[in-house]
Amino acid sequence: MKKVIVSGIQPTGDLHIGNYFGAVKNWVALQNDGQFERYFFIPDLHSLSIDYDPREKQRQIRQLVRDLLALGIDPKKSTLFVQSQVPEHTELCWIFLTVTPMSELEKMTQFKDKAERASANINAGLFTYPVLQAADILLYHGSVIPVGEDQVQHIELTRVIAKKFNAKFGRLFPEPQSLLTQTPRVMSLLEPSKKMSKSHGPKSCIFLNDSPDDIAVKIRKAVTDEVGVRNLLDLAQLFDETKLTFQHLKKDFDNGDLKNIELKDTLAELIAQTFAEFRSRRDQISDAEIAQILENGRMHASSVAQKTMKEVREMTGVR
Ligand code: AMP
Repeated sequence: MKKVIVSGIQPTGDLHIGNYFGAVKNWVALQNDGQFERYFFIPDLHSLSIDYDPREKQRQIRQLVRDLLALGIDPKKSTLFVQSQVPEHTELCWIFLTVTPMSELEKMTQFKDKAERASANINAGLFTYPVLQAADILLYHGSVIPVGEDQVQHIELTRVIAKKFNAKFGRLFPEPQSLLTQTPRVMSLLEPSKKMSKSHGPKSCIFLNDSPDDIAVKIRKAVTDEVGVRNLLDLAQLFDETKLTFQHLKKDFDNGDLKNIELKDTLAELIAQTFAEFRSRRDQISDAEIAQILENGRMHASSVAQKTMKEVREMTGVR
């Protein structure tokens, strides 16, 4: 049997280049490696645990699916679906909550970080978030979980939950492992010692659907202290597939001949080229096509999720 990969990305706004290099590029590579069965999903329920505008949510979901398709997620090769359309996620989450020690949840550093940043909205959903994540993974018997560094602790907790469930009710779930990729941490344009993040404002990020003009303006405004210039050079290396332009920039930099404006304009050009095909592809994907793909994804995911939940209900004695 093929190993199962499960991974998600929250619908919280436009994808930026950190999301691309940190997550989606890797998903596409894994998709085209035939050794796995793949589930990629939109964790819309997770995204309700931070402040948001309900009127925007559906548009954000469609937008994210459109972006994923344009970047190369192929619904013929991967199951692509929306979490809330498969209600077994929340049902399994409840069962898991009953075997999860509070002390384990209290250790989660991501909760502590998020709670510190959003002190006016520290809700129980934010606290129990990793338990829903465990349900997302184990519902499909996921065993290989491509994640960034920040999610490793949550995957450890998923293993604890799988072990607790198996010990109490009988062996059903695998103990999944994180698949840490060569995830570069893409840094902010305006605060280059911090990770690029939407929460630091749109001018600190390059979004994948930014026009070449937007990209040029944002890069021109990037900070160019010592760390900032290093960051721009790192980005040039990341974006230059052939590395020829990067080598040229690096040589000038090492000799002290590199002008910031040359670095910035060259980098803006490299980024705009990288996503040119993406921008035109995404404009061709209709809402009707997205709805159909998500419906197919829902049907496939549901059939697997229902089978797992039937076993869980029997094993736990609720049916
Ligand atoms: P988020 O939008 O923070 O939920 O992130 C979605 C995915 O993108 C996660 O897998 C993150 O690890 C990844 N990611 C987000 N920001 C960055 C960044 N600046 N550099 C690298 N990866 C990132």
